[in-house]
Amino acid sequence: MAESKNHFPQPPTGSTKPFWRTSLHPLDTHQTTPNLPSETDILIIGGGYAGASAAYHLFPENQAATPPSVVLLEARELCSGATGRNGGHLRPDLYSITSKYLERYGLEAAVEVVRFEISHIKEITDLVAREEIDCELTFTRSLDIYLDEGELQRKKEFVEYLRAQNLDFMDDVEYLSETEAQEKAHVRDAKGGFSFSAGHLWPYKLITHLIRLAVSRGLNLQTHTPVLSIGETQTAEGFWPVTTSRGTIHARKIILATNAFTSAVAPQYSKAIIPCKGLCTAIEPGPGAPYRRLPETYAIRHGPGAFIYQISRHDGSIIVGGASYIFKDDLGEWYGNSDDGGLIGKADTYFDGYMQRTFFGWEDSRAEVKHIWTGVMGYSADSLPHVGEVPGKPGQLIAAGFNGHGMPVVFLSGKAVAEMALKSVSFGETGLPRLFETSSARLDPVYDDILE
Ligand SMILES: Cc1cc2nc3c(=O)[nH]c(=O)nc-3n(C[C@H](O)[C@H](O)[C@H](O)COP(=O)(O)OP(=O)(O)OC[C@H]3O[C@@H](n4cnc5c(N)ncnc54)[C@H](O)[C@@H]3O)c2cc1C
Repeated sequence: MAESKNHFPQPPTGSTKPFWRTSLHPLDTHQTTPNLPSETDILIIGGGYAGASAAYHLFPENQAATPPSVVLLEARELCSGATGRNGGHLRPDLYSITSKYLERYGLEAAVEVVRFEISHIKEITDLVAREEIDCELTFTRSLDIYLDEGELQRKKEFVEYLRAQNLDFMDDVEYLSETEAQEKAHVRDAKGGFSFSAGHLWPYKLITHLIRLAVSRGLNLQTHTPVLSIGETQTAEGFWPVTTSRGTIHARKIILATNAFTSAVAPQYSKAIIPCKGLCTAIEPGPGAPYRRLPETYAIRHGPGAFIYQISRHDGSIIVGGASYIFKDDLGEWYGNSDDGGLIGKADTYFDGYMQRTFFGWEDSRAEVKHIWTGVMGYSADSLPHVGEVPGKPGQLIAAGFNGHGMPVVFLSGKAVAEMALKSVSFGETGLPRLFETSSARLDPVYDDILE
């Protein structure tokens, strides 16, 4: 495994500005109490999707008469990490990474992950309806388009293999021929592809709404409070001492929702979860210029490992990111790089003219990049998230390492750790895919998927 620039990354102080954070929520820099409480039943570290989901599930609408005390510490502003900087693409993976899981762990375990991801579509739909969350949740088809004939053929064979296993979710997958990929998906040079159900949303609005509900039900939210370290041992009373920039807080239970930055407070994860920097943009057509509306979401594959994701917002703007193949050979730009304060030199101009050169119907659109930003993903060495009890640390739970693919994974992972903290249920009882369980074996990974 290559040496990372920094295996103990704290969230940096400055950051590039994502489109999603252009209009901020009143809780963005909130501190519920002027000082930190000296102790708490449950401490959540991290105010992104995982922390927000855990907080939301710790404060159900019909909660116990005496709910536990819960404090959430966020190093920077609310939802200022990967969740506030992502592509907003809620796209279950039906067959892409499944081949890796299948090869390593067998069909049953691989299918569990797929079903779990698909279940997020209904979960998020129900959540948004139940809590009346204004986050532009939209469902559509996702077009998975291949520009490389060889890659397309290999994927086609795998899709056929999955179909032959009589997996019901494969009924949703439609094949697109070269003509269809060019005429229906409008992608230049497309060799073919697939389509299936997916969605998109405004992640910052979802997360701030969940946190607002939790705060209204008793959560103590403390932004701008980085955790510097967690004590090695519990006190005689069973509390973990946690050192922050604003003093020490003692917690009976801790939920690490720290994703890319996990190893700063839990160094045992330094080989398992590596911070990796990525790039995203918001592109707008010129005022009054002609352009073709693209209601579907996209993954455009330029070749093995060369991937661009894209959603269309209702106002005609496009959120598009990825393109890591442009800078992949320059490890310092992304691997072990937790600095979302700057762009990525080699790719800064990649998205200029992207829509015009990629899609039929955008030639005269005068589309321009209006926002460009970076974010840091928590890549896991074996491509799987780490969820469950931190090995050898009773009362410490983790939901982290969601790679570049958290939207259809994190919500129920956050719910699971909340249940583990609140009701002391075991990982097995949460219903999460078995492969997600964190373990001491996974802390010393045999795979190095990030660099392969
Ligand atoms: C550019 C980019 C594009 C992406 N696009 C997509 C996409 O379209 N679809 C998709 O499914 N996924 C996408 N992802 C991945 C997805 O955003 C993540 O998997 C998901 O948001 C992870 O949520 P999280 O809560 O675990 O992490 P985060 O949102 O990063 O939250 C972790 C939080 O913990 C805080 N924290 C960390 N350490 C400490 C500490 N010591 N003290 C206090 N606070 C701390 C951080 O400041 C941060 O706010 C993308 C990611 C990036 C960066």
